[in-house]
Order: sequence, then structure tokens, then C-alpha cells
Amino acid sequence: MVAEKVDLIVFGEKILPAAGGEILSGHGVAVAGARIRAVAPLVELRQRYPGVAELGLDRGLLMPGLINMHTHAPMSCYRGLADDLPLMRWLEDYIFPAEAELTPEVVYWGAKLSMLEMIRSGTTSFCDMYLFSREVARAAVDVGMRGWLGEVLYDFPSPCYGPPEEGLKLVRAMAVEMADDPLINIVVEPHAVYTCSPGLLVASHDLAREFDLPWIIHLAENREETKTVNGRYGKSPAVHLAGLGLLDNRTIAAHCVTISAAEIALFAETGVNVVHCPESNMKLASGVAPVAAMVAAGVNVSLGTDGSASNNDLDMFGEMASAALLQKVGRLDPTLLPSRTALAMATVNPAAALGLAGKLGVIAPGALADIIVLDMNAPHLTPMYDVASHLVYAVRGGDVIHSLIGGRVVMRDRRIIGVDEAEVMARVNGFARDIAALF
Ligand SMILES: [Zn+2]
Repeated sequence: MVAEKVDLIVFGEKILPAAGGEILSGHGVAVAGARIRAVAPLVELRQRYPGVAELGLDRGLLMPGLINMHTHAPMSCYRGLADDLPLMRWLEDYIFPAEAELTPEVVYWGAKLSMLEMIRSGTTSFCDMYLFSREVARAAVDVGMRGWLGEVLYDFPSPCYGPPEEGLKLVRAMAVEMADDPLINIVVEPHAVYTCSPGLLVASHDLAREFDLPWIIHLAENREETKTVNGRYGKSPAVHLAGLGLLDNRTIAAHCVTISAAEIALFAETGVNVVHCPESNMKLASGVAPVAAMVAAGVNVSLGTDGSASNNDLDMFGEMASAALLQKVGRLDPTLLPSRTALAMATVNPAAALGLAGKLGVIAPGALADIIVLDMNAPHLTPMYDVASHLVYAVRGGDVIHSLIGGRVVMRDRRIIGVDEAEVMARVNGFARDIAALF
């Protein structure tokens, strides 16, 4: 028998192949190209593929890389610029004036900074909405990170593309250009119901359908939004979208804090995917999204951090803990959103929302080799009765030691490969001096 070629064997003490699944001990993962070839006892893999390079940690835990389903990556440039303010004051007095000075260069370096932070805290895929998204794509390719990226669309002129119809043209061009990119996936992203006319919402959804892309929108983020949309259309944001025929399984709705039981049933029926952003919702005092009720109704709910200006970090381990804790205290029920559900919201659920169930967010033969290795040999992780419990309630992003994206090692021993991290931080610090001078 001719041995199949593999490029790398990744190993640790334990493997969590999928959220909620059995833990494997003494196993390894054989990677060939961008994909996982085999998951088997390490001894067997070493016999089957002699002389293959290895990456691992004796007391390590392997798990699928996390998927951050809602980011505005370049906003790391505004992290901590202004906090503890009402949403409109925060936006109008700080974020919008700062964004008025936005250049493609700021977007590129800000996005790159966020990617370093994401990789360092176990995220291997992210779903981003921002301006100058070509620059976000360029940064993702340079870093080697997997991204679902979109140009934000709204009714007013954009500093990137000008009038709204040009935005649709830009997204179309990017979808064509990047159709075969191994890391970059284009998504269609109208900003929100209150910033996009019905015509723009429908046209953008048509574009998403034409190219079979996800259609992503901020929806029902807080009471203010619901009031505004009700005043304008006499309907809630979700019912407004339903009336336009825009609720289906390519729809990914971020936030969904102020939604009713009837709207949850509608989401379940139409296959709408939801992204919960607990820390951003807490920080902006938006409220507690009814996540447990959505999950119980069969809605596919994923997790996102939102931008660094409203979080203020991109650590998905922290976000999983926040999601679980917020449901419990919000509904005064400690049984809500158990650790396995939180883990699914950062791995298999996003994969399903992106149409990649079984191919992303799991460690299985044929799946994309997006794998992280955590050091579990630490005081704050000792003892370990239950891996899922630790991953949600005790692990922090800094426990991630190695990371692979599409079979390529992007972080080894906490060093990011092929990126000068000091340069990225120096660039963003340079922009920050100019931003600070505006206020
Ligand atoms: Zn957002």
C-alpha cells in the first residue's frame, strides 16, 4: 500500500472533536493540505505516516478554532477611545467623527491588529462588517486568517464607494474576484433596517441570492431601534424584514435583543440565523437577548464579540462565558445556556449558518484544518472534571498555544508566524495619536 501524503500531525493529551461530543485521549490529527485527513490514536498515525512533522503539547487540548460571527475588525483603532456613554452620544460624539477620518490604511492596520488578537485568543474564522472591506480582505490574506467579509451598505454616501448603488456594485465585484479564494468569503451586509431603505434591503438580498452568499444585518439591537422602525414603518424590525420577504436561511441577524416570542417562532420557521453579542449588549446597555428561548425554539444562534470599541476585546472564550452567565442572571435560572451550548455557539452553529456544517467548527476527516491547541496544565484549569465546563468558564484566550488555519500554522508557541506584531501595534499607535488629537 502506498502511504497517503500528509503534511503535519497535531497532537495533545485530549481532543474535543466537536461541541457536545466525546473527548478523545491519546489521539492525534493528520493534516493534508488545507484539510484534516485522519483523527486516530497518535501511535497509529506515527506508524501510518512516518517522518511527518509534528506540532503539539503533551498536556494540551486540541479543539476546533473558534468562529467569531460578528466583528468590525478595524474598530480596534477606537478601543477605549470613549466608554460608559449612552449609545447615541458614544456614536455621534466619538465614533462617527473618528470614522470620518478613516482611510484604507487605517482599516488595513486596524483589521490586522484585530486578527492578531483573535488568533492569540483561539479564533480562526471571523465574520466582519466594515468600510473599505477590501483592506480587511488584504489583511486577512496577509495574516492567513479565514474571513467572511462584507462592505457595509446603507442609504447615505460611503467614504469608500460613494452612493449606495456603487456599494452593491463593489460587493458584486468582490464576490466575483474572490469566488475561489481559499480563505476569503464575501458576504452581503446591509447595516440595519433603520439605515437601509426597503429598496436597498431587497436589492442586497437579491445579490446575496444570485451569488448564494450569506446576508447579514444588525437587527433589533435595542429598544431605541425598535421604536424608530415602528415609527417609520408601523412594524418591528423583524416583521418589517418578513414583510419584504427577507427572512430565510441565508439571513444572519446580529443582536436580536428586542424580539418577541412570535418573532422567535418566525425565525425558527424561516431558518433565520442569529448572532448573539452579549458583552457589547451589556456595555451599551442594550438588554438581554432571549437566547435560551431562541435555542429552545430551534433557532441557530452563534456568538460574536462585535467591534472592539463596544466590547472591548475579541476574546471568544470570554464571550462564551459572558453568554452563559448573562442568560442565567437575566432570567434568574442557572440551568440556562449550559457550557456545551455556549461551545456550539462558537463552533458548529456558526459553521451551519455559513453553510459549512461538518466542514468547519469540527475536528473530523475532510473538515478544514482550523485547529487550536490549549495548554491545560495551569493552576486555573486544575483539576479538570469536565472539559466543556473549563472551556467556557475557566479558559481564557491566553491559554491558546498553537493555531492552524487551513492547515497552515499561524501561531506556534504564542508567536504569530509571518507577521511583525510590533510593527502592527506601532502603526495603530500612530493612528491613535491622530485620533486622540480630534477630541
Ligand atoms: Zn455590529
